[in-house]
Amino acid sequence: MSQRGKKYLLIPSVPTPNGGLHLGHIGGPYLAADVLARYLRMRGAEALVMSGTDSYESYVTLQAAKEMRPPDSVCHAYHERIVNDLEVMQISMDEFVNPLSLRWNAVYSGWHYRILQQLQDAGSILRVNENMPWDPVRKMYLAGCWLQGKCPQCALEVTGYFCENCGAHFRPEELSHDSGLLHREVTNLFLRLQDICRLSETGIQPEIESSYRQYLNRQQGMLRLTANNPWGLYHDDESTLFNYGFIFAYFLMLGEIASQRLHANENAFSADSSIITIACFGIDNAIPFLASVLGITNACAEFKPFDYYLANHFYLLEGRKFSTSRRHAIWVKDFSGSEKLITDCVRYYLSSINVRENQGDFIMSEFKACCLRMMDCVQRLVIPALQQIADVPITAIGADMMEEMESALARQEQAMRPVRYLPQTATDQVEVWIQSGEGHAKADGNAFWWLKGLCLLVYPMMPHLGQEMWFALGYDGAPDSLELSRLPERRVRPLEMRIVSIQDISLDRWTREVMCHAG
Ligand SMILES: [Zn+2]
Repeated sequence: MSQRGKKYLLIPSVPTPNGGLHLGHIGGPYLAADVLARYLRMRGAEALVMSGTDSYESYVTLQAAKEMRPPDSVCHAYHERIVNDLEVMQISMDEFVNPLSLRWNAVYSGWHYRILQQLQDAGSILRVNENMPWDPVRKMYLAGCWLQGKCPQCALEVTGYFCENCGAHFRPEELSHDSGLLHREVTNLFLRLQDICRLSETGIQPEIESSYRQYLNRQQGMLRLTANNPWGLYHDDESTLFNYGFIFAYFLMLGEIASQRLHANENAFSADSSIITIACFGIDNAIPFLASVLGITNACAEFKPFDYYLANHFYLLEGRKFSTSRRHAIWVKDFSGSEKLITDCVRYYLSSINVRENQGDFIMSEFKACCLRMMDCVQRLVIPALQQIADVPITAIGADMMEEMESALARQEQAMRPVRYLPQTATDQVEVWIQSGEGHAKADGNAFWWLKGLCLLVYPMMPHLGQEMWFALGYDGAPDSLELSRLPERRVRPLEMRIVSIQDISLDRWTREVMCHAG
């Protein structure tokens, strides 16, 4: 089905500017948004991807304390680092906001205060007295990442208001401490949530929907809007706006920017907007995302929630969680300066791991085998086929070839539906197509069309290879799969791409390092 005339806004989660990104971060929300957006554009849609850093996440202050510099300087530095990391992985952003920048500062806070006012006017805000742990030495409340104790649900050590172990969300006073802490009574604002939420046909997994309902029950349908963290947008002398509670205010700002870029008359989240909105996030962000989006749109009828939610489970690395503190990770910056075919392979391999239904595992030997398979395909099939057809006129596509191509692209379409996004079935399709190349790539009449099919199938996951093949086949612009039988504007030319040998990849070094930390 053609996507012509349709407009999309994809928003992957907003990263905390307190460090660089590793492949576990990239493989989840960012890669999903980029792959899906490229696919939709290939089908004729206008699709924008927008996000930004989450400056007022409390972990920024922890990093600031470690580096002994002010939080805003930490934010600016890691914002730049994250921008670079996204570029290295060819995750293209139509806007990536730094909320502390001169350009966006006022717009960002404007949306927050506007939504706070609207929630107040709608009578959706509760004032709640709570006992906040207070550190008399440092003269600060222990909020966000400074709050530590035992989870009220599973009794494991936790930091903040969320337990990574059991998924519980709780209020600060519910934490238990071995050593008694001083408390002070404070008043905070909470948003009253409705228990009616229509999430069917939005792509959300049933297990996430049920944990959201559990959260509503346990928290009596309340979402925190202010916290006693000194780092944040000012609310009163003791509290600031809570970044997670207001995450949808941030998205509304992106919705406004998107509507201008798409020449639409209203915000992408306006109740009657025709722009299709897609949120991409890790499962750890699912509860706050859903609560803020559904809570605010429920209270402010002029806005609609996202049309689709793409949540991913975590990636493991060789069977264990990616971990910054244990140095068990592969960092994006290690790929800067490496050949684009390698970052293409990283994206392709990450896409082939199913993190939609369960956690997935990044295995070094599998990744290496994947790189070898792709390089072999380019060297043994793609390059010779391009040479072979360079000087002969291209014949129109035959009926059999057309049928094969249409059915492969239909399976790709099946994999790229926002309501059930399963990129690993798209990579499976690439593997099948490569197999068929053993015959087609060498047959005069079919070589061109086999190459075109490969180009269209790999492009969302491997944008560099896909784009270069598109140009080599004689087409202009970005790959599109709207009229399969369309002949190119120009003559076929060789692939303009440096083909690396496997020795050029520092795979063995990473394998050694990862294994060493794993052991
Ligand atoms: Zn727990």
